[in-house]
Amino acid sequence: MTEIRDTVILGSGCAGLTAAIYTARAGLKPLVLEGHEPGGQLSITTLVENFPGWPEGIQGPELIENMKKQAARFGAEFQLAHLNNVALGVRPIKLETSAGEICTRTLIVASGASARWLGLPSEQALIGHGVSSCATCDGFFFRGKDIAVVGGGDSAMEEALFLTRFASKVTLLHRRESFRASKIMLERAIAHPNIELRTNTVVEEVLGVEEKDVKGLKLKDVSNGAKSELEVKAMFLGIGHEPNAKMFTGQMDLDEDGYIKTTGNVLTTRKGQVIPGVFACGDVQDRRYRQAITAAGSGCMAALEAEKFLEEHGH
Ligand code: NAP
Repeated sequence: MTEIRDTVILGSGCAGLTAAIYTARAGLKPLVLEGHEPGGQLSITTLVENFPGWPEGIQGPELIENMKKQAARFGAEFQLAHLNNVALGVRPIKLETSAGEICTRTLIVASGASARWLGLPSEQALIGHGVSSCATCDGFFFRGKDIAVVGGGDSAMEEALFLTRFASKVTLLHRRESFRASKIMLERAIAHPNIELRTNTVVEEVLGVEEKDVKGLKLKDVSNGAKSELEVKAMFLGIGHEPNAKMFTGQMDLDEDGYIKTTGNVLTTRKGQVIPGVFACGDVQDRRYRQAITAAGSGCMAALEAEKFLEEHGH
């Protein structure tokens, strides 16, 4: 007979690992399914300066590794697997994963959000050949080259600033006149001598598909329709993220952009009714704050709710 676990946590980013620390310390032996992006967004970021407790900042991957060790110390188990199918309406909850079927009394969904792409065929054809959504992973390959970053939020600013370590010049392309980025990040980008900001500019095509190597970008100025070409060796996307919740469509209430709707911070619902034993935390249910510390905070809440649920249901 398949073992019934007390708690399974879907996702190993900041929210999932915090939930793992709390449920492990409560003796629930959580199983963390690490998914297709282990460690979540922090594992592909650089210096994190706003996580309390690190006066000089800490590298994202190191912060994640510390959380994982902390959870493992109290008995959390980890498995590299992705979810193929789920039945939330039955007790225990059944998960069909790439590592087999798993039954659990409580499920904490912390599956985060994944990088968004422009969706241009030329962009998709050149992913890994000069098109990237991860400056930390791929910036190194463009030492001494001119590169472009797309986006107008904090991620784009952070990527542009980080990429100046390698690139001779970074051109930041934003589709509107005003920026979504925080004042401090925008000011840093504006002040940097190797960053040029171009507003009202959209990418129409990435050049170099035949050569399998980015040669440049076809751009359009949306304020006057003027077309131009920008010679760059790489294009980095910093245009936000998509919540990883598609697998719950029909079984859980999602909002118009696919984020999990929660009530009472972390309780999930179906047609407005709370789904027993299923909680959501972190970026998959947060379109407003999306910070490491808020993800960790909601991971803690989900863990406490799972613990309370198990107590109330006699486990
Ligand atoms: P974001 O704030 O949602 O910004 C996304 C940017 O990409 C926007 O400027 C948006 O343009 C643009 N964009 C979206 N789709 C596009 C498309 N198809 N084509 C062209 N441009 C497109 O996302 P984010 O920058 O990833 O930030 C998410 C959250 O994380 C924010 O709360 C942010 O403060 C936080 N964050 C903080 C830090 C830090 O403090 N160090 C670093 C990274 C992220 P529009 O403005 O026109 O919509």
